[in-house]
Amino acid sequence: MRPIPILTYHQIAQAPELGAPMRSLYVSPSAFALQMHTLSLLGYQGLSMTALMPYIRGEKTGKVVGITFDDGYLNNVENAAGVLKKFNFSSTCYVVSELLGKTNAWDHSVGVASAPLMDILQLQQWIASGQEIGSHTQHHIDLTTIDSHTSHAEIFNSRISLGQKLNTNIQQFCYPYGRYTPEHVDTVISCGYVAATTTARGKVHAGDSAYELRRVPVVRSTSLPQFLLKILTSYEDRYRSA
Ligand SMILES: [Zn+2]
Repeated sequence: MRPIPILTYHQIAQAPELGAPMRSLYVSPSAFALQMHTLSLLGYQGLSMTALMPYIRGEKTGKVVGITFDDGYLNNVENAAGVLKKFNFSSTCYVVSELLGKTNAWDHSVGVASAPLMDILQLQQWIASGQEIGSHTQHHIDLTTIDSHTSHAEIFNSRISLGQKLNTNIQQFCYPYGRYTPEHVDTVISCGYVAATTTARGKVHAGDSAYELRRVPVVRSTSLPQFLLKILTSYEDRYRSA
């Protein structure tokens, strides 16, 4: 199979003032729209993780790109859903099941500005626009810092709770901070997830584990030429050997 990029986004909004921490994790609505338009012009289809799985397994072929959003920011449904719908793209947003309608409290200790997260109604709106919801645990906790009983609860209960609240089968998982051990991979498998993404960089290649999928970050400073390099070339795969 042709290596597949899975894009990682966080907030789709104007970045806060210069010097604010984690400013890189904001992509402006206009930059996001331009990136999606460019993919469409090049003949690529943006897909949710569940729609992407047949391509990752080699059952389907085509010009496809996975589109993922971490954390479940309200600005995703406000500023990204309409653009995705316009190009008939789907995507997966990984949300924190116990923080729906709250804020990114886990980031506050490092000084990141508070940003609202989608509540249930907004998640339903997201799904109604053709997008997917995945789990990003119950509390956005670093799984490697908690015992296995608690990490099982974070991984399993979030899937059940989101599934019940949204009346859908939650199939996708994303490790908070990209932190996990082989034991967490086993838990994600036993809890019934179909795939999981990490923060390791690179495109997905044939034979990669569905439970440790690499991704391609798109950040505030990603220019359109860089975006094209990430999609069209092996630029991101320089990290695969690391
Ligand atoms: Zn996160």
